Parts: sequence; C-alpha cells; structure tokens
Amino acid sequence: MRLSDDISSIRGIGEKSAALFHKVGIFSLKDLITYYPASYITYPPISRACGVSPDHKAALLLKVMDEPKVVHIRGRVMLSFNAGDDTGKLKIIFFNAPYLKKSIKQDTYKVFYGTVKARGSHYELVQPRMYPEDEYRGISERMLPVYPLTKGLTEKAVTKAMIRAFEAIPEIEDYLDDDERRKLGLEPLRESLYYMHFPENEEGLLHARERIVFDEFYRFIRAVKRLKSDNERSSNDFPMIEVAETRRLIEALPFRLTDSQTKAYEDIIKDLGSEHAMNRLVEGDVGSGKTAVAMLAMLTAVKNGHQAALMAPTEVLAFQHMQKLSKIMEPYGVKCVLLTGALSEKQKREAREEIRSGAADIVIGTHALITDLVEYRDLALVITDEQHRFGVKQRKTLSDKADGKTPHVLVMSATPIPRTLAIILYGDLDISVMTDRPVDRLRVRNALVGREYRQTAYNFIKKEVKAGHQAYIICPLIEAGESDKGENATEYAERLQDIWGSEVRVGLLHGRMKNSEKNRVMSLFASGATDVLVSTTVVEVGVDVPNATVMMIEDAQNYGLSQLHQLRGRIGRGEAQSYCIFVDTSEGKKASERLAILNKTNDGFEIASEDLKLRGPGDIFGLRQSGELGFKVGDIYTDAGILKKASEYAAGHTDDTASDTDVVL
Ligand code: ADP
Ligand code: MG
Repeated sequence: MRLSDDISSIRGIGEKSAALFHKVGIFSLKDLITYYPASYITYPPISRACGVSPDHKAALLLKVMDEPKVVHIRGRVMLSFNAGDDTGKLKIIFFNAPYLKKSIKQDTYKVFYGTVKARGSHYELVQPRMYPEDEYRGISERMLPVYPLTKGLTEKAVTKAMIRAFEAIPEIEDYLDDDERRKLGLEPLRESLYYMHFPENEEGLLHARERIVFDEFYRFIRAVKRLKSDNERSSNDFPMIEVAETRRLIEALPFRLTDSQTKAYEDIIKDLGSEHAMNRLVEGDVGSGKTAVAMLAMLTAVKNGHQAALMAPTEVLAFQHMQKLSKIMEPYGVKCVLLTGALSEKQKREAREEIRSGAADIVIGTHALITDLVEYRDLALVITDEQHRFGVKQRKTLSDKADGKTPHVLVMSATPIPRTLAIILYGDLDISVMTDRPVDRLRVRNALVGREYRQTAYNFIKKEVKAGHQAYIICPLIEAGESDKGENATEYAERLQDIWGSEVRVGLLHGRMKNSEKNRVMSLFASGATDVLVSTTVVEVGVDVPNATVMMIEDAQNYGLSQLHQLRGRIGRGEAQSYCIFVDTSEGKKASERLAILNKTNDGFEIASEDLKLRGPGDIFGLRQSGELGFKVGDIYTDAGILKKASEYAAGHTDDTASDTDVVL
C-alpha cells in the first residue's frame, strides 16, 4: 500500500468508520500516520479507595454496589451508582451514556480512572475511564497516546487503524540519507513516525518528535522559499498611488496614529507604488492597532479603483471586522461585503454576485474567501489577519484569486518572535514591526489565584459591571461530561446567572454553536447588551470590545502562555484600567510558576522566551501553543533550535526539482 491510499483500504475500516475518520480530517494513510497524539498519558498503578484525595487522579479497582440509576437533568442524561472496595466507596457518574446501564452489572468489578471530586460528605468520579482489570493492568504504567477524537471515533479505533497502517506500509522513503541524518543528529523517518504513536519511553519520544518537527519545519521553509522566488519574479500588476481619502480617514479616526502605525502605512504606500507586488508582514503585539493599518491599505486599493479582501481565521473575528469596517468606510462610498460559512446559501450567492460584479469594494470573510466558487472582479490587495493562525498554503491560495495577475499581499500577525526567526518563517515577506502601543493605555493588572478566590472575583466583576464595564470569563470546556479538564462554559454561565440574578446579564459563547448564533451573541456583547460573556477560547483571536475590562480565565494551567497572552489581549483596549484574573486549579507548583510569568510581564516576546526556559523537555507533550502557523507538532518557540537546523539544511539544498512528496509531513 501507499501513503496516498485511502484509509478505507485498511483492513477493518468500512464506509462507516471511514466517515468518522474523515470528520477529523483523515482521508489517506498519510493523514492517519501523521495524526499525532494531542498528548500522552501514563495510567497509574491501581490504588485503594481509602487513599484518594479530592482533585487528584486515581485508578481504583471497585465493585459496583448497586444498580446504575438513570435520571434526566437539564436536558442531559445522568447515570450514577456507588462503587467501592473494602476500604471505602465513591459515587460514579456518567453523562449522556444511558447505554452503560446494560454493561455495568451490580457486584462486578471494574477499574475506574479519573479525577476524584469531593461533593458534600462523599467522593465522586465523573465520567471516569472504565476498564476490565486485566485490560487495565495491561495498559497502565506506560506511555499511551491520547488522540483528539470526535463523537463515535474511539481511542481504540484510532490505535487499531494505526497499527494496521504501519503494517501495510513497511517502508517509508527517507529523503535524508543515513550520512546526512546522522550529521543532523536525527532519527530515521519511519521509526520516528511509529514512535510518535507507540512510544516506549520519554527519551525515545523526544528524539522521534525532534525528527518529526524537523520535517515539518523543513517542508514549511521550502514552501516559503518557493513563495519568495515566485514573488521576486512578479511585477506590480496593480501600481497605486496614495489617495486623499486615507489622509481624511486618518484625520477622522478617534485617535492619533502611533509612530509604528504611521511607519507601517508609509511602508505599504511605498510597496504599492513600487516595481514589484507588495508582500509585507505587519507584526505587532495584541492591541498595537493593526486593524487601522489594514483599513488604510484597503481604502488605498479601493480609491485606486480596485477590490481588496480581508481574511480572518474565525467567523467571530470576520463578523466583527465587517461591523466595524463597514461603518468607517461608508462615508467614503466604499461598500463592504461579508462572506463566511455562517451566511445562508442565498446570502452567499448574493455576496458572490456582488464580488463578481465589482459592486463589492472590500470583501471580508473567513477561508470561505478562498473557496473556488468566489470570483473577484478586480482583486488587487489581499490581507490576512492573524496570519499565524493560517498555514503557508493558505498564504498563497487567496493571492491566486486575481486571475493570473499578482495582487498585493499584506499579512498581519501578533506572534512575538525575534527577527532571526521571523526571517526564517516569513522569509518571503518584507516586515514592518510595530513596536509602540497606542498611548493612554493603562497596563493590565494581573491576579493569579486559586479556586477559592472565585467568589471574590464574582463580586469584583459585578462591581465593574455596575461601573458600566464588561467582562469575559473563559472556560476550557463547552458542556459537562466532556472531560475532567475543568469548568464547562454552559453550566458556568447558568450558575453565574443564578448567582447574579437579573442585575448582571450573562452571555454564552462556544465553538459548537451555529455561526449565526455566535455572531448574535458576539454582537450583543459588543453592543453592551450583555455584561459578562462566558466563553470558550473562540474569543481568543482578534476580538475587540474596548469596554471590557475584566478577563477571568478558569483552569488557566491548561493553556500555553502565548494563548493566555492572546486572551489577555482582549482587555486593556480602552482607557479604563483592566484586570486579568488567572484561576489556577492545578495541584502542582509548576503551573503556578509558569503562570507567574504572565503575572510579571505583559510583553509577548518576553513571555514566550521565559516560557521556553521554564519548560523542561518532558513538558513539550500535551501543552500546545495555539497552533502557530499551522504546525501540527512543532512549536516555534520551544523548537527554535530545530527550526534553525532545518533552515540551514534547506539553505544547502536549494534543489527546486525535488517534489513535495519526498517530505512526508
Ligand atoms: P490588534 O493589533 O490587536 O489587531 P486592534 O487593531 O484591534 O489591535 O486595535 C486595538 C484597539 O485599539 C481598537 O479598539 C482600536 O480602535 C484602538 N486603537 C488602534 N490604534 C490606536 C491608536 N493609535 N490610539 C488609540 N487607540 C487605538
Ligand atoms: Mg487584530
């Protein structure tokens, strides 16, 4: 079999399970073997009920003491029973799994693994993993992969398919020969791929990971180089001049541009009038005011007679850009059109028609902008917001929409990286760095607290709301029973509304809502019609509600520091003092040490570097930054060394004829 073969060619994968794999983006064998675990877990040896303590994980061999009971609460099904050994008992609870009633028999024994919670006078295990004793003894005390799953797709199914895929592909050609490989200090490709899924120990896994990251980076760097050589060849198909309207817009803004904004704008004007098409990165930390720069560039394109497109990584952000930009652009006779997956088919058709006819001057959207159905009348400027959320492939596709001509490209990113790394990752782009931040901003005040501080935080938030401000509260989960990683937004919002009553209006936002519903919730919050928004990380990027002054992050230890920094970037956007509350619910000291970095500084780059220093090699697994640049495994901060290595290797191998397929990842 070959890597490009369909996964349904694996023994045991029929149409139905193939569909499940498709849901998580696995179509080919290659997709499967590069579907890396999100983390690894080592199950502990079995312990006794008397030894458990609340908020700690435990594996217990327990006898089911009574018939499982099924009750319905708030639209969900809860199944519960008591289980114990001769030293104590616990209540076991499962949500939305009534079918378990059949398989859990009174007086039988099972191993239950999960986080113990204290509830009143008893202990409970919510949604524990459950195993026959033999099976548990077989898997415990060694590293096991934990895959990102979807409903219906089980850990077991992925592992089984993985084993068969590797059996079916005994060899994978390595583009590095043994000599090169040893010089680079890297492990062979196939072994490394295999080891990522079936590690025997942490050290081996680190080596395997290093190889995978190298490949990922190398492939990326080659793509960047290809873009660069394309760019160098492309002439300026849309030469533009500075227009009077941008000057008027600058005057009309409610603030004065910072020097960095002015400089970036000038760089852009120079590019637009130069010999080659613009390929520029505007890099500036969260809140540095990149949108204003994008706005000026788009107005320039439109007043030179062309169309401009602005692509954002999330629906929520695209929608927000649309609301803000259309208002600002209207007085200049500029028509903005939104195109996202959230629109109805009819609305999409209309939007596409306006884009095609040229009625739309500025097109704002998500990656729906690059689907093939969209035809532009005269696309001369393509802007990507939060570029670090997209891969290098998307960087190219949108600029291919200009009908053989080469549009100007502007990308914006908040990834704080040193210049040397920027040159490797964005080598195809000229860079404008925005160093200064809008004046008149008070520094965000931080608090790192434990869960016992919650009530105080709620009182504080209520006080802020009474003073006319707003707040975000971020939870790691959407609904109860998903995992034991912490708070879920749905119940949290209900609970808060109960606590506060009608005095504080609480909104709920999460990624599983329909897009139109997300937009509605976000608009209510942006307009001030809700006071507190309980949300998952869907608000992480770009969202701009300057009136919000509190960001409270539950179970903050679950996030990478960069991600926390992005979240914190949602506040401190207006003139009022803002506050960020990190709630650390972890047991260990390590998490609080990490979070303390955020407490110390608000500088994105400093945070990333400190984070790097603090993380030991073993911490690499399971704590992803927020998917920077679309890398599956690599982390540009942690793996900066490998990035340099890959860059040097790429510099010595400028062979353009090498096809894409020789690098597997
Ligand atoms: P980011 O760089 O994170 O995309 P935004 O462009 O969303 O930042 O700007 C953050 C906030 O700061 C917005 O509310 C914007 O209106 C405001 N802003 C932008 N530039 C300035 C400035 N020069 N002075 C004061 N406020 C500004
Ligand atoms: Mg932004």
